[in-house]
Formats: sequence, C-alpha cells, structure tokens
Amino acid sequence: MTDRRNFLKSASFLMAGGLLAGKTGQATASTLMKTRLAADKKIGLQIYSLGRELYEDVPGGMKKLKAMGYSTLELAGYRDGKINNIAMSDFKKMADDAGLKIISTHVNPPIREYTASNKGEIAEFWKKAADDHAKIGVTYLIQPGQPSTRNVEELAIVGEVFNEAGKIAKAAGLSFGYHNHDMEFSRVVPGGTEMLFGRRGFGREQPKGLEIVYDGLVKRTDPSLVFFEMDVYWTVMGQQDPVEYMKKYPNRIRLLHIKDRMVLGESGMMNFENIFKQAYANGIKDYFVELEGINSGTQFEGVKGCADYLLKASFVK
Ligand code: MG
Repeated sequence: MTDRRNFLKSASFLMAGGLLAGKTGQATASTLMKTRLAADKKIGLQIYSLGRELYEDVPGGMKKLKAMGYSTLELAGYRDGKINNIAMSDFKKMADDAGLKIISTHVNPPIREYTASNKGEIAEFWKKAADDHAKIGVTYLIQPGQPSTRNVEELAIVGEVFNEAGKIAKAAGLSFGYHNHDMEFSRVVPGGTEMLFGRRGFGREQPKGLEIVYDGLVKRTDPSLVFFEMDVYWTVMGQQDPVEYMKKYPNRIRLLHIKDRMVLGESGMMNFENIFKQAYANGIKDYFVELEGINSGTQFEGVKGCADYLLKASFVK
C-alpha cells in the first residue's frame, strides 16, 4: 500500500514535470524550469529603465517585474526626500508587497562643480540623502552623474568629496558608490581646461601627469569608503573593456549595470558571457539591468526582454 502510494506520488510528480506526458507536459516542464531559474537568479533592475510607465501604476508595475523574474531594485528619482513625489516609505511598501527588495539608489547632489567653498553644502545634501535611504533599508547609495573633472586638480577635489560622502554614508549604515558613463574614460592633465576623449590627443608629446578620469577617481578614493558600480555598456562606449577594468580593480568594482544598446543581447556588441564570468570570479553579488531607448514596444516589454535574456543565459548563475 505504502509502495503504491509512493508510486502514485512519483507518477504525479513526473506528470507535472511533463516526463510522462506529451506536448502539453513538455510546456509544463519548461514553465517549471523557468520558475526555478527565476527563483534562483537574483536579477536586479534600475527603475529608471521603466521611465514614466512605472508611475502609471507603481504597485501593479512592481508585481509585473516580480513575475518577469526580477528580485531587487535600484531606485532613481530621489528628490526632496521622495522618489518621484512618492513618500519613500510608501515606495518601499509597494516593493515589499510585490516581493521585491530595494537595495540600491541613484542620487546626484545638486552641484556639478565641486570647490572648497561648496564642499559643506554637498556634505549636507549627502547627510539627508543617506538618512532618508537608511530609513527604508537601502544598502548602496550611488552617484550616477559625473561631476566636473576638466583637469587633475578637479579630480583631486572630487576624490575628497567622494571620500566625505563615503564617510557620511557609512555613518548611516550605507555604502557610497560611483557609477560611470563613457566620459570617465577620457584623459585630463594638470592645469588642463577640458577632458580629451577617444582619438583626440594632447599633441605629439605625452604630457606629464596625464590621467584617465576613471583611474584617477579610483586612485583618489579610500577603498573603505568608496566603491564603483561599473556600467558595462558605457565602459564599452568609453572604448574600454569592462572585463579588463574588473580584473584591474577587483576590490573596487562591487556592482554592475548590465546594459546593452537597447534590449540585452540584441546589439551583439556586448560580451556578457565574459562579463559575468569575471563578475563571479571577483565575487560580485549584485547587478542591475538598465534599459534606455527601445526600438519598439513599451519599456515594460523591453525590461521583460532583458530578464528573459538573463534567465535563458546559461552563464548567468
Ligand atoms: Mg547605468
């Protein structure tokens, strides 16, 4: 009797898995497999990817994201203690209700050109931003916009301001990070007036003290206070290899923006397999999908296309 019951139990399990069934059963098996993968893979999303579409129905949108396979979020749109005019505690509740965890946020201070006289004002801004995000349990406080870095002297003051932001974040229980675009891979010189990018040069002689902005920021920031979130697409657009950078700074690059020209994997210009391989080798635990423009359809459809790509990719754990 016991044997028979066990046999029936196994048989119904196999049926559910489609192993004893026909075509319909196979579809069920693939759905089960997909569900299992979605549960195992920790895929994050930078909510900027949804643009205004998210704000048509935030609770509904969050549920859609969860169903697509996303599990963590990185905020954008912080202003006056709110996220796009929604109280942060309300925003957190909507994410919680959908089973999503907000672990990161993108915030830019209101000043782009850092000087000795406005450092205090920037620190005040970070103090409030860090406290507001600590209240909803965010881990990473990240600056996504490049401050003015036209020369080595400006690089130095940006390094000081970042270190201070790092101290403020740490005191509130957060980690401060910086997110790049392409212009961080331009070069600057002492006393210079502009960043030079790509094939543009400083003349025949390599000027003394020439630095790549990105490396200059890594060098001038305290590893215990400032980490880097590497946007792999913008690094490629900066004519650099994100894998090489991850190898160069394994202890500084702690998060990634997984981004392509549009939907992940469509352009063919990003070697995501190598990027993920290196990310795992470096022990990187969190990353966020980011989508800007799309050719057709809605942002939600594009964001789903990105999740589908990662769920299907065998190199994503
Ligand atoms: Mg990005």
